[in-house]
Amino acid sequence: MQCYCDGKKEFEECCKGYLNSALTPATPEQLMRSRYCAYVLGNGEYIVKTTAKDQRCEDDANLIKEYSKSVIWLGLEVLNAKGDIVEFKAYYKDAQGVKVQHEKSNFIKEDGIWYYKDGLLIASKIERNMPCPCKSGKKYKKCCA
Ligand SMILES: [Zn+2]
Ligand SMILES: [Zn+2]
Repeated sequence: MQCYCDGKKEFEECCKGYLNSALTPATPEQLMRSRYCAYVLGNGEYIVKTTAKDQRCEDDANLIKEYSKSVIWLGLEVLNAKGDIVEFKAYYKDAQGVKVQHEKSNFIKEDGIWYYKDGLLIASKIERNMPCPCKSGKKYKKCCA
């Protein structure tokens, strides 16, 4: 099975080891990809655990779980990963339709381990001529737009 993060690798060889804590992400991009998988899988604990210690709130795990299960995750596109910043687009579908979360995330290394610090949301629209994020094979404008 291809990994949820669309990293073109098998789940076993991509994010699985991070999610079950067998491995520690070596780069912010790996961490970001594994966190996207955690959203897909409704793994709120992983999201909390990989958040910088001073931003972390253990009680969020259930809220994150509820939120992540309330939408259908369609895919991830990593646009840029440089230093401690990863820019990405995550596509999902909720009751109102297909949406995109475009974010520049900041990561921080604490005791040799990368954590998610915070993110800047960027207003973004799904281009009408791009392949639909729902992976129907049709253009977005002819599908979920
Ligand atoms: Zn992955
Ligand atoms: Zn569609």
